[in-house]
Amino acid sequence: MPLARFGRAATAGILRQVLAQRRTEKRFHASAADILDEAADALIRRFATSQRLVFNLTGTVLHTNLGRAPVPPEAAEAAAAAMRGATTLEFDLTTGHRGERDDHIAPLLCELTGAEAATAVNNNAAAVMLVLNTLALGKEVPVSRGELIEIGGAFRVPDIMARSGAILREVGTTNRTHPRDYTNAIGPGTAALMRVHQANYAITGFTAAVSTADLAGIAHAADIPLIEDLGSGSLIDLERWGLPHEPTPREALSAGADVVTFSGDKLLGGPQAGLIVGRADLIRQINGNPLKRALRLDKGRLAALEVVLRLYLAPDQLAERLPALRLLTRPEADIRATAERVSSALAAISPGRPVAVESCRSQIGSGALPVDLLPSAAVTIGGKSLESLAAMLRALPRPVIGRIGQGRLWLDCRCLEAVDEAAFLAQLPKAS
Ligand SMILES: *Cc1c(COP(=O)(O)O)cnc(C)c1O
Repeated sequence: MPLARFGRAATAGILRQVLAQRRTEKRFHASAADILDEAADALIRRFATSQRLVFNLTGTVLHTNLGRAPVPPEAAEAAAAAMRGATTLEFDLTTGHRGERDDHIAPLLCELTGAEAATAVNNNAAAVMLVLNTLALGKEVPVSRGELIEIGGAFRVPDIMARSGAILREVGTTNRTHPRDYTNAIGPGTAALMRVHQANYAITGFTAAVSTADLAGIAHAADIPLIEDLGSGSLIDLERWGLPHEPTPREALSAGADVVTFSGDKLLGGPQAGLIVGRADLIRQINGNPLKRALRLDKGRLAALEVVLRLYLAPDQLAERLPALRLLTRPEADIRATAERVSSALAAISPGRPVAVESCRSQIGSGALPVDLLPSAAVTIGGKSLESLAAMLRALPRPVIGRIGQGRLWLDCRCLEAVDEAAFLAQLPKAS
């Protein structure tokens, strides 16, 4: 079988490896069939992809390490179709001449945010970098000390500003920044003001911050633009579904921000992307920056993003059709019913361990606040050596990822939807 599937060279290579391994480990007693089995297993492992689909039962819906927002099936299909063939990526069917790749999404982004113009790049970090490099290269950008954030990984506002070529001018203090802090910092070398959404933390107590509207007033009086990094941002008001208010690009723009950046794969629920919306003259400059070419989106992600943005044109169906929103708004009773249905199968593979269905709280993830917000239900498994239990679930064909805490393994069932339940249950007996 392996020879037919992988060919002579790959099979011979693996056989040599298996025999060499046996020699170094001095495992000489084996039948030819044993060696062939071992080689077949090794071949299958060698050709299996390393990025795998998993069941995200961590309780964090937009989990950065697990790929953030799951996109709607029709968006994934559009991406796959675009990647398989030639498309109108940069081709105008009416004229038969060259077109613009941004034209597939820019009009939609303008309609959904009220912006004059829009563009898209690899992610929001790239968006911030490109905006600063275009508008503030070698010039100063005042930012409040309360907004000099680290998102995780290597995204720290001061570092990204330094790499963009803009000069960070820190103003105010950690807890309080006033309008006069910005006015005093503005001089002939100031290119723009920037505001960064406090995504993954909160400053409470004796605090003061300058609103987007006030900051826009200060920027415009000095004849410079206001840049706002919204981080997650949401194209619609999430309060409609009982979720906390997340500032929308439309709000930031109508408060006077000139350029707004946000992520495609956080609350928006689409593929990884960085979206830039705002004043037409500034977006034109941004698109004229040679770095745009280095940061632009490929046809697959543009195809998926276009499908997701079109879903927002029908907001009444959004909570059903956009998986990120569907998961975030899933009723607790529904999640609990799933937990009850899968708990006995989980008990069957955890002999001697206490298994229960317990209430818990899911997180939105991707830095969205407040944490521990969404009432949910989990199957919990107790007993000793929870790490080895977690490892056993991670070794399943479609790995199951939970979370260890309070002496138990928690499998939050929010992201285990009915359509996936049969596949989840069917693979459990393979656990060992
Ligand atoms: C998440 C976030 C970023 C980085 O966005 P990516 O899409 O992960 O590159 C930047 N700024 C803020 C405020 C964020 O929340």
